[in-house]
This record gives sequence, structure tokens and C-alpha cells, in this order.
Amino acid sequence: MNQISQTLDDLVSRFSAAVSAASDERELDAARVAFLGRSGEITVIRRGIGALPSAERPTAGKIINDVVATMEEQLIREAQRIQLRAFDAELATSIDVTFPAPASRLGTLHPIRTMTSTICTYFERLGFAVVLGPEIEPDYYTFDALNIPADHPAREGFDSFFITDSLLLRPHTSPMQIRTMEQHQPPIAILAPGTCYRRDAVDARHLFQFHQVEGLLVAEGIHMGHLKGVLTGLCRELFGPQQNVRFRPSFFPFTEPSAEVDTTCPKCKGETTTCNMCGGSGWIELGGAGMVHPNVLREMKYDTDVVSGWAFGFGIERLALTRYEIDDIRRFYENDPDFSRQLR
Ligand SMILES: [Zn+2]
Repeated sequence: MNQISQTLDDLVSRFSAAVSAASDERELDAARVAFLGRSGEITVIRRGIGALPSAERPTAGKIINDVVATMEEQLIREAQRIQLRAFDAELATSIDVTFPAPASRLGTLHPIRTMTSTICTYFERLGFAVVLGPEIEPDYYTFDALNIPADHPAREGFDSFFITDSLLLRPHTSPMQIRTMEQHQPPIAILAPGTCYRRDAVDARHLFQFHQVEGLLVAEGIHMGHLKGVLTGLCRELFGPQQNVRFRPSFFPFTEPSAEVDTTCPKCKGETTTCNMCGGSGWIELGGAGMVHPNVLREMKYDTDVVSGWAFGFGIERLALTRYEIDDIRRFYENDPDFSRQLR
């Protein structure tokens, strides 16, 4: 009996060392099979009970059963230890859903949108109404009513994207002048921003789709001085308090007299001849303007002896290029959020 106890003590300590050294379930199971399996060491000892005197057999059987119970308890503890360690390892390599998320990157308004709303705000302060209209227009609103009859050579520069024989993507926002004057009697003061389409080849200064803003003021006694004052105020709003405006004689079918509008180069203020923004001229071209042609007012049944008006049309991209000192118009449409963020 003493010999069995000694053998068991030795066996238990070897079993204990083996299972506590097991690093995974496979090693743990190998230890279980070696000691407790069908041909395991305990089984061999248990079979030896039959050789003992019959009086000793029950005691020996009980001792062996107690040892087996202790070993099985240790197996359960070691199995839990191995499972816990596997769980910890998995946790270390997986995503911690309780970890605070990084701050999200807020978007910004597109620079064209910012520029448009700045212009709208300025004109709304002056009492102008902002009007929006369709991007597909009949040729009557696009050309005929604006003193560009079918055989007029000026029409060719605009007739870009016809959808039917008489419907086209608007090449300017001027149809909104006609739509407004059809509906209302003077005084009229509107601003019409929106998308326009022309068949320009795309390069650093041109796009086939762009944004324009037009202003129209029709009332009694309106003259070019009012136009120059309003546009000077706009340029000072957009580019700084030192801005001035100059008119250069030009031609548009829908205005008479007509002018190209320039503003002081906001980069060099006309003080250097090597400025890359204005080419050293000191002036930046903004767009066209002039007094509304009497033919246009008469088409609207307005009395041209009583009312007069002016109109202007500027490209919003061009204003944004100047304001943000950007050298390529295509940058506005590359969908680069870092670009827009810089221009807030
Ligand atoms: Zn300059």
C-alpha cells in the first residue's frame, strides 16, 4: 500500500508539471491521455489492484479514485487557463469597439458655393431678389428675347448644347432676366446665379460647364453710374477695400452701350509689371455689363421713354480664381476636400 501511495505521489507531481506546462488544448489532452487514458499510468496502477491482498483492495481503490478526482479538477482549471489566454490573445489583435473613435473630418462648403453666397448676400443687402431658373431653356429666352435673332452672328458663340431644335442647355443665366420681366413691372432688381453650359474646350481657364451670376436693375432714371457704383461695391466686398472698377467699351447684343468690366488686380494692386495674376496690367477682367438694350425692354412691353436698366454677367469660377489666387480652374472640380478646406 505504501508503495502505491509513493508511486501515486510521484505520478501526481509529474501530471501536475505536465498539465501546467501545456500551452494549448492539444498539449493538455496529450497529458490527459498519458495519465488518465485507456493505457494511461493511472489505468495501469488501477489494474494492479487485483494483485493486492483482498483486504487492501478497497482502500487502494479509494486512494486511486481520490487521486483521479484531484487530477481531473486540475485538468479543468488548466483548460480554463488555456481558454482565457487564447481569448486574451484574440482580444489583443482585434478591434476594441469601446475605444473612443477619432474625431470625424467635417466637410466644408465648396469655394464656388461660398463665392456665390457672398455675392448673393451683398446684393440682397442692396435690395435685390435672388432668382433661380431652369437650366434647359427655349431659344426664345436664350436668344430671341435678348435681341439675338436667329440670323445674328453672336448666336453662334452660345449655341452649344441643343436638346431639340428649340431647347438647349442655357449658355448664360440671362433667360432669368426675360422670365422676370415677363412676370413683373419695373422697378426690377434681381440677381440670377446658376450653372451654364458652353462648348469651350477644357483648359486652365475654361470649362464646358461653369457658374454665372447676372444682375438686372430696371427702373426710372437708371444709368451706368449706378452700375459702376454697385460693381465697385461688389469688388470691394470680394477682394478688399482698395478695389476699383473700370469699364472698357465692348459689344453685346443685349446691352447698349456695352462694357467689359475689370477690377484692380488684388494681388499686385497694379504696383508691379511682373505680376503673374494680371500679366502686369494691374487689372483683372471680370465679365460683361451694360445698359439693357431698348429692344429687350420693348420686347417686354416696357416704355423705354420712362424706364431704363443695366445688367451684368460674371463667371463665378473666374471671381473665385482671382479671390483665392488659383491658377487652374479645373482644381475646383477635382473633389479634393483638402483643397476646399484651405479656401474656407
Ligand atoms: Zn497683378
